[in-house]
Amino acid sequence: MGVCPLARMPPLRDNFTGPLHPWARPEVLTCTSWGAPIIWDGTFDPDVAQQEAVQQNLTVGLTVFAVGRYLEKYLARFLETAEQHFMVGLRVVYYVFTERPAAVPRVPLGPGRWLRVERVARERRWQDVSMARMRALHAALGGRLGREARFVLCMDVDQHFSGAFGPEALAESVAQLHAWHYRWPRRLLPFERDARSAAALGPAEGDFYYHAAVFGGSVAALRRLTAHCARGLRRDRARGLEARWHDESHLNKFFWLYKPAKLLSPEFCWSPDIGRRAEIRRPRLLWAPKEYALLRG
Ligand code: UDP
Ligand code: MN
Repeated sequence: MGVCPLARMPPLRDNFTGPLHPWARPEVLTCTSWGAPIIWDGTFDPDVAQQEAVQQNLTVGLTVFAVGRYLEKYLARFLETAEQHFMVGLRVVYYVFTERPAAVPRVPLGPGRWLRVERVARERRWQDVSMARMRALHAALGGRLGREARFVLCMDVDQHFSGAFGPEALAESVAQLHAWHYRWPRRLLPFERDARSAAALGPAEGDFYYHAAVFGGSVAALRRLTAHCARGLRRDRARGLEARWHDESHLNKFFWLYKPAKLLSPEFCWSPDIGRRAEIRRPRLLWAPKEYALLRG
């Protein structure tokens, strides 16, 4: 397993974990080969993380897209549970992207928490809604969102918070281990393998399979990430290609080229359909059941 070199260093600036305790979870991987911590329950001190973040008077952005039927189906619960669990005690700005601003539910917000609505076009195919997020995020990060927030997390709406999701999840760039794939051998991971695609990874490439339902980082890092992915998506489209898992494939390519500074364990975005696993102690976000027939019909 190996001890993460980061754990022996003084608390990292802008890593918001406090001293790390990777040995508290000997049964799981707590450090990547490039020295980034993989945050599992018990490996960080949430109080120290909170103290550091409060001292810096951090404002955290949380972006979410709710287009078409996803708005009525998921947005209210996502926001209500975020109020209970997401960066409690910090300044938070929600950015909701939708084609119907008037339909956004009026969820009561705690002090120091704001919600802004950004209008986006409604794409016809769900894949296009998903892929259009990179371009829209890039624009927002270059505007008000980028001025207001120091760190931003970008999330899918088809999930809800079930446990504390605090500043320990923040870093210069943050990637989420995919709940269904974190135990798989690397060669089986569903990266894009068609060499013609901008998202392609070679047979020996890829560190982990990351889930596009949660990614984040500083505004500058996310500007680079979203620009890279939007460019790849555009190039593929111009050549009549669509990567296997759409924007997620391009995100995985980006994080292969530019390693994330912090990884979140699958506890941070868990699918209850997987069932109980000993290493999943306290899920922070839970996937909603997939009701594709209803949503994508
Ligand atoms: N999305 C949306 N409307 C759509 C399709 C997608 O708002 O018609 C947004 C929504 O935030 C959703 C995300 O894009 O969570 C990704 O799509 P989805 O969750 O369906 O993809 P999956 O998680 O199944 O890969
Ligand atoms: Mn989703």
